[in-house]
Amino acid sequence: MKIFFLSLSLLILPISLARAEAPVTVRVMVEESQELMRLEIKGEYRIRLLPTLQEVKKGASLQKVAVTATPKGIRVDGQEWPARGIRVEAMGERDIYLDTTRYRGAIEIQKDKTGKLFALSRLDIESYMYGVLQHEVPYWWPMEALKAQAVAARTYAMYQAQVNKAGDYDLKSDTSSQMYGGSTTERFRTKTAVDQTRGQVLTYQGKIFPTYFHATCAGVTAGAQEIWKINLPPISGMVHCGYCRFSPHYSWNSKVSLAEVEEKLNKSGRPVGQVLKIEIISQTPSGRVGSLKITGISGEAVIAAKDFRIWIGGDRMKSTLFTVNVVDDMAEFHGKGWGHGVGLCQWGTLGQALLGHKYEAILKFYYPGADITRQ
Ligand SMILES: [Zn+2]
Repeated sequence: MKIFFLSLSLLILPISLARAEAPVTVRVMVEESQELMRLEIKGEYRIRLLPTLQEVKKGASLQKVAVTATPKGIRVDGQEWPARGIRVEAMGERDIYLDTTRYRGAIEIQKDKTGKLFALSRLDIESYMYGVLQHEVPYWWPMEALKAQAVAARTYAMYQAQVNKAGDYDLKSDTSSQMYGGSTTERFRTKTAVDQTRGQVLTYQGKIFPTYFHATCAGVTAGAQEIWKINLPPISGMVHCGYCRFSPHYSWNSKVSLAEVEEKLNKSGRPVGQVLKIEIISQTPSGRVGSLKITGISGEAVIAAKDFRIWIGGDRMKSTLFTVNVVDDMAEFHGKGWGHGVGLCQWGTLGQALLGHKYEAILKFYYPGADITRQ
């Protein structure tokens, strides 16, 4: 199989192979605030100190050794070093086990400001993508949909890495960046999609940009400026999708008690007393709800719909594309779509792939004006 994909990529990616540039390295936060971590490497390894990278130990294998923080440094298997942390490398591209998860690349364990430990998975972006893609889309989706998602997710990760360059880490391993499960969760088909789009990213006027994506737009994509005050043509919305009508998230209904709305308003320091009325008072260019006016017995408050959605929770308020009616003591929401609606619509991508559209065309559809370039 490996030979097949190599020969395929030789046919498709001559420029990329000719350049043979080293892929970007990313640092992913995989554990935080731990007293104790356990490392295992089933083969040769070496340990370096941070930040000097001085090699202090190597050996034939590491068997679930304990790593703890000490007042002066860090202790590994009973041996203490006066350093802020360690980098552990496995020889021969072997994976490293950290607690219950397996990782490609190196692992860095460092002390935080409170004296507890955090761990970073440090690896090239392509290996990182192996641990990400199947969390963003089902691995059994058509290959063109997986490839479109691979390029969008790779670009998003590289953008985050650029933005966070000066920080302790580039990306988190949860939904605040992208879900990342190390090599434990890799799947063959999603790995193939990563390999077949190796190094490919989306750019606008030569620069990578935050390639947001979401589950289902339900008609028209939202502009990033509707939510985050970012104004960039490829993510400025108003793409008429029409390919996600079959999505299970195309429409939704949700009920929220007025007492809960009252409580959320109290907590946010904007009490209105018992809630009587909820009205939509503005809409965004893509037709989503911009803001709500909530009228109570003792006052009223205007709330941005995106904030209201966060209060109630993204699983109950799946989008800001909704209507609302107050019936008795409940607010009844009838909505469409799932997610913020910016950028690539994942269920629309599936719809397009099923119609035979290629991933390049799908990406250019959802990110108008963007180019696909090879890093
Ligand atoms: Zn859509």
